[in-house]
Amino acid sequence: MYTIKTTHKSIKTDELIKNYYDKEKIENFCKQCEKYNKIWSCPPYDFDTEQYVRQFEYIHIIGTQIIFDKTTIEEVNTIENIKKFSIGTILKERKKIFDKLLLLESKYPGSKAINAGNCSICEKCTRVNNRKCINESLIRYSLESLGFDVAKITSEILGIELKWSSETLPEYLTMASGFMTT
Ligand code: SF4
Repeated sequence: MYTIKTTHKSIKTDELIKNYYDKEKIENFCKQCEKYNKIWSCPPYDFDTEQYVRQFEYIHIIGTQIIFDKTTIEEVNTIENIKKFSIGTILKERKKIFDKLLLLESKYPGSKAINAGNCSICEKCTRVNNRKCINESLIRYSLESLGFDVAKITSEILGIELKWSSETLPEYLTMASGFMTT
């Protein structure tokens, strides 16, 4: 069905901010997403995202590619199925990455995980009803939600060009997560 390929690279937070942080530009993309202001791990935030990441000296960027085999690309061949299969696979693999990152956090005190997308712990985030997060200790932000240009990061730092589902499944889908250390 598919294989997973992981690529990672460590970079100083200061360098990542200098070359890939553009909060205003990225938040304008977020504003076009239906999840904007609907999930506590998505913008807008009541804190300064640059100050947040600057608490850490290094950011270890992790690219996870879900590489589909030929048969799967041939068999998942309607727009509806492609969407369903892509989302389902991403959510399943994102959860695995998240669990591994939390385990890493417990091994490295003072570290913090970067989620490969928005928080999806609850079926419906409490932010929709303007209520406090019910799992605040588990919120981990994504690179894009913090204001980083993920397409540029994966391309220039990891050498991975992002591909998207359209009328066929792409050769692969990519998730960007990370791990910040002091
Ligand atoms: S844990 Fe639940 S309430 Fe909190 S951000 Fe995630 S989805 Fe929303």
